[in-house]
Amino acid sequence: MTPKEANIRSEFPLLREKIYGKYITYLDNGATTQKPRCVLQCIEEIYEHYNSNIHRGVHYLSNKCTDLFEQARHTIAEHLNAREDAEVIFTRGTTEAINLLAYSFGETFCKEGDEIIVSEMEHHANIVPWQMLCERKRMTLRVIPITDNGELVMESVEPMISERTRLIAVTHVSNVMGTINDVERIIKIAHSHNVPVLVDGAQSMPHVRIDVQAMDCDFLAFSGHKMYAPNGSGALYGKREYLDKMVPYHGGGEMIDHVSFKGTTYNVIPFKFEAGTPDYVSAIALAEAIRFMESLDMDYIMAHEQALVQYALHRMRSLEGMRIIGDAKYRSGAISFLVGKIHHYDMGMILDKMGIAVRTGHHCAQPLMERMGITGTVRASFGVYNTEEDVEALIKGIMKATAMLG
Ligand code: PMP
Repeated sequence: MTPKEANIRSEFPLLREKIYGKYITYLDNGATTQKPRCVLQCIEEIYEHYNSNIHRGVHYLSNKCTDLFEQARHTIAEHLNAREDAEVIFTRGTTEAINLLAYSFGETFCKEGDEIIVSEMEHHANIVPWQMLCERKRMTLRVIPITDNGELVMESVEPMISERTRLIAVTHVSNVMGTINDVERIIKIAHSHNVPVLVDGAQSMPHVRIDVQAMDCDFLAFSGHKMYAPNGSGALYGKREYLDKMVPYHGGGEMIDHVSFKGTTYNVIPFKFEAGTPDYVSAIALAEAIRFMESLDMDYIMAHEQALVQYALHRMRSLEGMRIIGDAKYRSGAISFLVGKIHHYDMGMILDKMGIAVRTGHHCAQPLMERMGITGTVRASFGVYNTEEDVEALIKGIMKATAMLG
């Protein structure tokens, strides 16, 4: 472990916890990450010193919290390189962001007979909201297939687009296989047909630098809790040209301009999409998590995690009976595997007893499981605080579990 790695780990109190008498090896970052001290302190500080509902008070505390909330929006907009803060809508995470988009975009721009394109490797959060829209409006969902290696069949994208295509919704990084999709290329193809693109950034925001203007995505959804921020934080980025036209998702306080029983007019973006009291504490702490990541340097995070994933793949491939699901050329974050005929759940249980936290199951990607002809996998997923020692613990754990179960 390098001094920098040790320093980073020391910022995360949970990593010093013991489970069954052993320090935890936390390899479930694809599900959620642990929180650095600065994020925990930020939450405590707000509740101890500033807590008050935002956007509606004349008093000091309310103004202070409102300022912090709007500064957080600015921090996120800058981190994404959005053109303006108003293009960042706070949500509780990726799922809420995609549901918001599927409803508001769907109600505004879609009609019977239209089509939405997703891919075969999507998380259920980027499938089901689109299926619900398709059911509501009698539309069709089309699916970009994937190769045995777990990469998108890029040649199939353009022929799938027609004058009925309203949107392409695709993940940046697969939560199961770690595949990094060439979303820039998909966006170029889509834009040449005037079709907008949503990028599901749930698994890329923690690992790679995203510049929404350079990428030119029309929408991007992400979750704070997967990038060292609290649960209940996240955002939908969207280009103003779409957001301005889209009807609201939820109705209630703050999203209105004027309410009367004759009719209601709506607020401007982003407030039009933020009805009710948001989780402003988590939103403010999300900005703190972004500052934390930037202080480590996104280039360092990317290089460290890439090297770790490559090291893990190299070590895992030497194990007997090892089957790694997906072998994409560009990958990040997650490695899914199976060993011999051992059930993923049994492997996960034995690893747990050795203090190693991995995830097992279908990872909310059942269509991908079906495509790969499996019911589930064991998934090790990495964060900035993981080290080669964690990989070695995993390798030792897999060998022991294999000896017991194989
Ligand atoms: N998309 C992807 C690719 C994900 O990995 C996840 C979370 N596993 C989601 C969407 C949903 O994120 P959340 O549960 O934070 O809303």
